[in-house]
Amino acid sequence: MSQPILIFDMDGVLVDVTESYRETIARTVEHFTGRRLAPAEIQQFKNQGGWNDDWKLSHHIVAEAGVDTPFEQVKVHFQSIFHGNGTDGLMLREQWVARPGTLEKLNRQFRFALFTGRPKWEAELTLQRFAPELEFSPIVGMDEVRRHKPDPEGLLQILDANPGAKAYYVGDTVDDARCARAAGAPFIGIAPPSNPLYIDLVFLFQEQGAYAIVDDINYLEEVFAE
Ligand SMILES: [Mg+2]
Repeated sequence: MSQPILIFDMDGVLVDVTESYRETIARTVEHFTGRRLAPAEIQQFKNQGGWNDDWKLSHHIVAEAGVDTPFEQVKVHFQSIFHGNGTDGLMLREQWVARPGTLEKLNRQFRFALFTGRPKWEAELTLQRFAPELEFSPIVGMDEVRRHKPDPEGLLQILDANPGAKAYYVGDTVDDARCARAAGAPFIGIAPPSNPLYIDLVFLFQEQGAYAIVDDINYLEEVFAE
């Protein structure tokens, strides 16, 4: 029997992106529309599903506000806030969620893989920064798939490369849950009580038949406790 696999989503799972991606969406939209979004408004889109790509989501909200701006322009502005000049980008506000030792312990029981909507190089940068000693293999990012989440293509790539291995997908959005369901992988939902639409998110995960729902990845160990 091959070792079971934990496939992680990155944002909202391994990394707390409240102050990075979510804040970048808010600032980008504010830049083009003059209106400041509430965190719950962004979460509402995420709960709706289909808004895994934060560039597309930002562009959509800008367009919905009646501001006609090309997608590329929104994306460039978004990236300029997220990366800044390399030392002042909001990316640096990302917080690694796992407490020291948590993932190392899980890694004795599971192999790790990553399926994220980020570009692969951006995901690798974050892993290098916070967990250089942990191996995630493979890393499937936005350019490694033709169809993005909730399409299961990325998960299926990982499952097909590991025939016979039990694999779980750990994600924080309804798109992640749908994606796992479509791939036939048990889904573990991350729903932090600090989420502005926490209860809705828990219900959405339950509706999708989640295998387990936890506050954050530090509780994963309890899911697999005998
Ligand atoms: Mg996520």
